[in-house]
Amino acid sequence: MTLTPVPVFYPTQHGLHAPEAEYDNGLITPYAEVAERIEVIKAALLALPFVQLEPATAVISISELEQVHAPELLNYLRVMSEWSARHEGRYYYPSVFPGYFARGVGVNGDRVLGGMFAFDIHAPIGMGTETAVFQSAASALSAAQVVLEGKTNVAYALCRPPGHHAGRSFSGGYCYLNNAVLAANRLKALGKGAILDIDYHHGNGTQDMVWDDPEIFFASLHADPAFEYPYYCGYVAETGGPHAPDTIANFPLPKQTSDELYLTTLHAALEAIEAFAPNWLVVSLGFDTFGEDPICTFALSEGIYQEIGKHIKKLALPTVLVQEGGYAVSKLGDLAQNFMVGITGF
Ligand SMILES: [Zn+2]
Repeated sequence: MTLTPVPVFYPTQHGLHAPEAEYDNGLITPYAEVAERIEVIKAALLALPFVQLEPATAVISISELEQVHAPELLNYLRVMSEWSARHEGRYYYPSVFPGYFARGVGVNGDRVLGGMFAFDIHAPIGMGTETAVFQSAASALSAAQVVLEGKTNVAYALCRPPGHHAGRSFSGGYCYLNNAVLAANRLKALGKGAILDIDYHHGNGTQDMVWDDPEIFFASLHADPAFEYPYYCGYVAETGGPHAPDTIANFPLPKQTSDELYLTTLHAALEAIEAFAPNWLVVSLGFDTFGEDPICTFALSEGIYQEIGKHIKKLALPTVLVQEGGYAVSKLGDLAQNFMVGITGF
């Protein structure tokens, strides 16, 4: 068997997005979603003999983005990036959330827009954010395209910023546009498919976007929202909208989840996906499930990521890997390598 290179799509300008701080539980702390995350993963993947780096140079099509995102969200990204450019690159943090009382928008509309297009304060916008977000989306779309064309069975999009908390018209949780859903939308040319989300946090944005879509199955393993972000969804009872009953399968997991429990649960999620008989797979790939991750409560080992990859490989589906979270920066390269060896079988 010849060693087909696995393309890894890399957004060369992701570093333009670099907020310094986040606010959580009364503390102002360094922004955890740092550029170094992607650089560490990229370096580790390039050390594998079967990986080929592809800069994400595809021009993003607004009309394709608007197939899954509201034009108003795209406008918000542009307006606030421009606002930042006029204010010494300062990052804009939404601070007024009008969901409960809005009757209109005042003359300072640009500065209050955020509350209409963000569900939390964890997705600030700087002057380079729009460019970085578009390139992150382009990475996912490029990876989907090579899989769609049958050039490879697995492609990896090193998306940054990540995407699975972003919905049709909202940003939040370090996410602005939903890279996984954008990839899935393009793969629909192959018929119905599945998104498997194995980030530590529930992919609330993804779930919201595919909620009533009978062509996409969404399975997610994540920390139980009863104690973990994003708190308001990711529960077992959420199974899909009226046109798409039983197309959502949530697997909330407890604190101290072990390798064994994780693999058993993954097995159940993969069985649910198989029962849907999908033609393609998008994996929202987060490494914040790792036991040493600073924001994680699980107890997963470094070696388990190879097993996770092996399990997913058994589906034997054309697969797009979309980078989501993972904040144990110095370990991310090892975790990504392990996963990649598992899912490719090289
Ligand atoms: Zn996460």
